[in-house]
Amino acid sequence: MIYWEKAKEYLSLFLTQAQKYINKDTFAKVEKWLKSVSWKSPKAIGALALALVIVCGGIFYLSTTTSAVGIVVNGKTIGYAPNMTEAKQFVQAILSKHGEVAGTVAQTSDQIEYDRVRVSKEKFAASAISTEVLAGSITPFIQGYGLQVGEKIAVVMANEQDIDAVLAKYKDYFAKPSDKNSVSSAEIVESFTKVPIKANPSDVKNVDQALDILVKGDVAEKKYTVQQNDTLWAIARKNDMWVEELLAGNKGLTEDSVIQPGQEIKIVKTQPYLTVIAKGTKVVDEVIPFDVVTNTDSKLATGKSVVKQEGKDGEKIVTYNYVEKNGSIVDKQVVKEEVVTQPVKQIIAKGPARAPVYVGTSRGSGSVSGLIWPISGSITSYYGYRHGGFHTGLDIDGVTGQPYTAAAAGKVTFAGWDGGYGYCIIIDHGNGVATRYGHSSKLLVHVGDTVSRGQTIGLVGSTGRSTGSHLHFEVIINGSTVNPLSYL
Ligand SMILES: [Zn+2]
Repeated sequence: MIYWEKAKEYLSLFLTQAQKYINKDTFAKVEKWLKSVSWKSPKAIGALALALVIVCGGIFYLSTTTSAVGIVVNGKTIGYAPNMTEAKQFVQAILSKHGEVAGTVAQTSDQIEYDRVRVSKEKFAASAISTEVLAGSITPFIQGYGLQVGEKIAVVMANEQDIDAVLAKYKDYFAKPSDKNSVSSAEIVESFTKVPIKANPSDVKNVDQALDILVKGDVAEKKYTVQQNDTLWAIARKNDMWVEELLAGNKGLTEDSVIQPGQEIKIVKTQPYLTVIAKGTKVVDEVIPFDVVTNTDSKLATGKSVVKQEGKDGEKIVTYNYVEKNGSIVDKQVVKEEVVTQPVKQIIAKGPARAPVYVGTSRGSGSVSGLIWPISGSITSYYGYRHGGFHTGLDIDGVTGQPYTAAAAGKVTFAGWDGGYGYCIIIDHGNGVATRYGHSSKLLVHVGDTVSRGQTIGLVGSTGRSTGSHLHFEVIINGSTVNPLSYL
């Protein structure tokens, strides 16, 4: 009977193991039944054998599988969590993380279900849910707000207050209020709306990011009709662009293309989303540039010059009312000017041969503003003393054949050969102000022509006394040259 005793022993051992998996009531019933069995009857032996098979099978099943909760997204199980609480926490954590940008919990339109299952321990280990997998399977959204300009959503933000905040910052970005700049009004020209929007959390911007996007702006395209005397360079200048930018917006157009008046050219450039018109009053310190008076002194040798009096810049405090469009002045009215120090004239005596000749330029108050650069390029020589002589203008680097334009509207009073200046143009702008353009390879205007600001008047060259192709540019006030940099 030793075998039966052994069998009983094993059975209770299994039952002890089984206790972990079977509920208490079932276990108690099985135990009670075992005690009641008469261990010598063949019926009992059969029942015992059957019970052994069932219990062993059950224990095997229970010990090789585990209970788990499958996370099912849109009908597809993407992984398992150990239990329901953890499964839900996993999903919640992902949505919370996505919602952080907007200070909320993100939502999703994906259908998420939880499936209580038993899976093999291997399968559970292989497909335990991970944050990466879950994040990749759920498409989150938040209820945000878009700033719509025209047809376009310029930027998506978490809420209306953020949009208001960025608009206020945008106005300040251009208006730049300070203790020297009292802004009386700053208004946005374009109409815009704040629209509720279902947004991908990764598209939601904070105030600084949104400001950056609005300022950088969007690509805008407009048509430009080529005018008489226009060049690609002049068109680029008129539109505040480089020739390369102009060409980039016009397929088939190259630097060597011949353009005809009336032809349409695309102006493609990025500009801020919104236009701020700011009005206010500014107080600024301004330099009063000194003038240079050159007197011909026949006692001096040719090309020699001597400073009789050193020039010195003056200073003034100017108060003016302004209207600005995205930071650029469109209207300016001086209301007060307080001279702190008067400038001191520079007086130079020059040998006779180098005395400049200004043909028929006007005389007047000499007040000048709004001169534009005749050419864009680096300055290779400044106004002032160099190599023992006095340089009466700016040398601006350029290549032969490159067009240059009039710095302001005026009348051509000289166009021709003028010794050291080579082929040269003088334009009288009235009020005692004139400009001179030297070393040209070609002149495109004649004496008596009226020119507009930005109009091409000649081509850069190296004629006259010149060591390389450049534009020699002078500003002349009442017959004396002044430093052009003070007026550009
Ligand atoms: Zn020069």
